[in-house]
Amino acid sequence: MASASSPTLSSSAAPLAQSPLASRPTSYDFVIVGAGVVGSALAFSLARSGRTVCLLERDLSKPDRIVGELLQPGGVRALSLLGLGDCLEGIDAIPVEGYQVFYGPRSVPIGYPVEDESEKGLGVESVTGKVEGRSFHHGNFVDALRKRALAQPGVTLIEATVKDIVTNASGVIAGVIATEKQSSSSAAPSTLRIEGSVTVVADGCFSKFRKTHGSSIAPTVRSNFVALELIHAPLPAPYHGHVVLSPSGPILLYQISTEHTRILIDVPGEKLPSVSKGELQAHIRDKVIPSLPEKLRPCVSKTLESGQRLRSMPNSFLPPSMQGQTENRKGVIVVGDAMNMRHPLTGGGMSVGLWDCVHLTRALGGARWSPPLLASEQSQPKDVTASAPVDLHAWSHSIRPALRSWHWSRKPLASVINILAQALYSLFGADDEALAVLREGCFKYFEMGGECVAGPVGLLSGLRPRPTLLVYHFFKVALFSIWCLFAHPRAYASRNGEIVRKPGIAEYPSLAFKSLLVFYTACVVILPVIWTELKANAPTFEDVTSSSALDASLRGSDGLNDGAFHDLLDRVNSSLRHTRKSGYMNYLPLPKRYLA
Ligand SMILES: Cc1cc2nc3c(=O)[nH]c(=O)nc-3n(C[C@H](O)[C@H](O)[C@H](O)COP(=O)(O)OP(=O)(O)OC[C@H]3O[C@@H](n4cnc5c(N)ncnc54)[C@H](O)[C@@H]3O)c2cc1C
Repeated sequence: MASASSPTLSSSAAPLAQSPLASRPTSYDFVIVGAGVVGSALAFSLARSGRTVCLLERDLSKPDRIVGELLQPGGVRALSLLGLGDCLEGIDAIPVEGYQVFYGPRSVPIGYPVEDESEKGLGVESVTGKVEGRSFHHGNFVDALRKRALAQPGVTLIEATVKDIVTNASGVIAGVIATEKQSSSSAAPSTLRIEGSVTVVADGCFSKFRKTHGSSIAPTVRSNFVALELIHAPLPAPYHGHVVLSPSGPILLYQISTEHTRILIDVPGEKLPSVSKGELQAHIRDKVIPSLPEKLRPCVSKTLESGQRLRSMPNSFLPPSMQGQTENRKGVIVVGDAMNMRHPLTGGGMSVGLWDCVHLTRALGGARWSPPLLASEQSQPKDVTASAPVDLHAWSHSIRPALRSWHWSRKPLASVINILAQALYSLFGADDEALAVLREGCFKYFEMGGECVAGPVGLLSGLRPRPTLLVYHFFKVALFSIWCLFAHPRAYASRNGEIVRKPGIAEYPSLAFKSLLVFYTACVVILPVIWTELKANAPTFEDVTSSSALDASLRGSDGLNDGAFHDLLDRVNSSLRHTRKSGYMNYLPLPKRYLA
């Protein structure tokens, strides 16, 4: 393996110390709440660009979590563009060359593509020329990111819990109130008031401050991932993420260190079966383990029976929203899981977050440095990739357009990852007949190889973030599934046992009806998620949830004066310019007279 990391755990060497008191300024360009994956990377890159940053984290000890353990090649590329590629070195990270999908006794490899000639060197690459992802203990990676942020001139890292957001006399968010962690238990906690031109909320999936930018959308949870850590698991396809399509929901396995393998078991529903009554253990024993590849079953059984604590995390969905476009929400930006989440099945959260750091640094960074452009980005409209420093004190004239640029530049990757994750989860967690037909068709589609693998894996890896390609492959899978219904042999019960044959002509009318149901189901799976992405293209209006309410707010009945109304209208129109070009306008529930 050309680029396998060394197994030494440099990040475990010394606990992270916050910036010394004497070197702390009182006011900053950016105040960032939360030093997770996104907060730490963003603090580093903004400071590298020449901005001053205060990064606040409630707990600087190495995180011990079951999230964010596989970074797709697209995320590795973003990390390289930020200059943080070395955070994957020395943390016992494991190279990932793609996925292996298991479906009953069958399995199919889905390898990552070969590196594009124009983008060579902007990621990690194996001896075969294929791009690679990396999997690791989440804590090791975050610790490495925090250390790089702390070492970057311009970053002040403080171990403190943010309690409140501060608003100045003109109603602009101007910083935070935080309680600093004390070194000794006897000392009283000190309260800090930290001011910044822009406050960035990056406090993760359970965010307390996600609504500060004006969105009232709350995350929804369809299932939970339950995790175990296996020791020396005999993975059938080493250096690959394993996806097992079980009748009870998808199961993921990937190696996270030389010794450890993570298993994430999807358990549908918002609430988990009881652990104290042994219901969750019984579910894993009876429904999950029998669906695993045979050679893995003893290892998982042994770990379960050893009494290892079953850890879980909700799998949330939170669509993004355009930020900073309204008069009453200035001074704050929300990023990472606090702003946008999708089912973790496709392992895309960190990639989206790291690319947000790239785009935001280009949009709001200082004059000293900006993340380089990829060859594929050179052709984007100038306003999307502009890197001229913006005046952080001029929200309406500088930051607002920059945030609009950020919204559009993040759109291709974020929307592909969001839609793909939600749609694949519906297919792989299939709980009705039509979904099962689509799941079977999807698996057979992968079995055909060639573009049927290269296309979807280009999307999943974050290397070819093209929404049209996603829609193309999704509906190709739907039509292929329908074709399989008619043309592929299947098992029928007969007097002499089971026979396998193609459906006869007499079955065609019922199959035609089923086909309609399958196609309708495919539309129901993907169109609502696409809709959430389209809706996100309109600026956020606080407490506006319906088109009539939006209409009312546009007309100024919520107290906006005429000038503000026209200003607002202008912004709506310019925000929707891109959407209109692509014909999406017809689907937006906005009053037509405002969109002419
Ligand atoms: C089960 C599961 C598995 C996943 N697996 C993957 C995967 O394999 N690959 C992938 O790319 N993505 C994965 N994700 C998604 C990924 O973990 C997230 O997208 C990513 O961690 C988001 O980073 P973040 O910085 O926004 O939030 P976090 O990493 O959660 O960081 C938030 C930080 O804010 C701090 N904080 C919170 N509140 C405060 C406060 N008031 N004051 C100060 N600090 C505060 C927290 O301590 C934390 O350090 C997974 C998600 C789940 C649920």
